[in-house]
Amino acid sequence: MRCTLILVGTELLNGATLDTNSVFMAEELNKAGIKIDYKLTVGDTLEKIENAIKFAKSTSDLVILSGGLGATDDDLTKEAIRRFLNKKFIVDEVELEEIKEKFKKLNIQFLNKNLKEVEKPEGAISIKNDVGMAPAFFIDGIAAFPGVPKELYNMFPKFIKFYTDKFCPNLDPIYIKDIIVSGIPESILEEKIKEFFTEPNIEYEFLVKDYGIIVRMQTSDRYKNTVEKIKEKIYNSIGNYILAEDQEKVEDKIFNLLKKKKYTLSVAESCTGGMLSSTIVSVPGISQFFKEGLITYSNESKINRLKVNKNLIEKYGAVSKEVAEEMAAGLKTDIGISTTGIAGPEGGTKDKPVGLVYIGIKVKEKVLSFKFNFIGDREKIRKKAVLHSLFELYKILEEDE
Ligand code: ATP
Ligand code: MG
Repeated sequence: MRCTLILVGTELLNGATLDTNSVFMAEELNKAGIKIDYKLTVGDTLEKIENAIKFAKSTSDLVILSGGLGATDDDLTKEAIRRFLNKKFIVDEVELEEIKEKFKKLNIQFLNKNLKEVEKPEGAISIKNDVGMAPAFFIDGIAAFPGVPKELYNMFPKFIKFYTDKFCPNLDPIYIKDIIVSGIPESILEEKIKEFFTEPNIEYEFLVKDYGIIVRMQTSDRYKNTVEKIKEKIYNSIGNYILAEDQEKVEDKIFNLLKKKKYTLSVAESCTGGMLSSTIVSVPGISQFFKEGLITYSNESKINRLKVNKNLIEKYGAVSKEVAEEMAAGLKTDIGISTTGIAGPEGGTKDKPVGLVYIGIKVKEKVLSFKFNFIGDREKIRKKAVLHSLFELYKILEEDE
């Protein structure tokens, strides 16, 4: 089973909007076991959309479009599909009532042109839109979705289920297991784990990201248990470099441990300048445990707010193990995290190069520090500092279990 994706929108061609819909769809299709032949991006021009459909239909079993399904004049996807199939438009009375009801609830006047949102080529099956106005539809191997990501995310999985059940019930769904590791170079990682992959049905690859390396194992659902066994071997071999699995976020895992231990947390940030607090605050429910985030950027701030000893700064410099530890120790909660580093591009020296970051972590009376030499631009170095500080804290809390 093969498909082609067509992303409709001039904004996708001129760089105004980044196409993330196809990334989402590709992942969902991949999981279902449907392969993608092409991804085509076209502007809001009737003729070009129709050409893309013609080409896609000539090569793939299934054609999926996203974008241009709305009520404005530049929304031409439906018309292109209608022309290609040579059908007329119909309006389903039930769907019309439903959309009118949605408009009423939002206190928006339903205009004649909004009719366009429920029109569909005769014979099309609708996919219910629980989060927006226009439903998606499917007809003769062509599925069309709105461009709004939230709406696509709502309807696409429903469509995949419907489509695979009806047209390819024997497809082998794909099973993917991601293990996210950090702090170990790719070459060493490979040396340590490649011996576990003796099974020909299980593919693995390394995806290098800012925050570490994803070890992606991919196979069909039938071999799920074998993957789980390999996963165990990986844990036994390099367990202390494993950050998380699949979509798990280290900040969420910390949250669960804080809940369990009833520990409070605060942070003192220098080079990360609020990014660490912001990451922590992104976890719903964290307010019970996260007490404060200080941006102690200057030496004075470190001295006045955290009681860092002035002499220590003079002797070792603000970017040092000693200062990172004192910063963390200066926080009043059960746990304190501090960051101090040289994010660049200026300010590096031979002894203290750009990318040097010290992280201090206090858990109760114990204070530890970690030294990193990150590579990347200012933004990347700061992001890495945030992730690694959380990762180190997670490891400490988990060992404490
Ligand atoms: P609407 O009813 O809102 O007009 P639509 O189905 O016509 O929906 P578009 O007008 O093509 O969809 O896109 C709506 C918005 O969705 C765009 O402004 C853009 O922000 C977002 N969008 C469109 N296509 C993509 C895409 N491929 N990836 C990410 N976002 C997208
Ligand atoms: Mg639109």
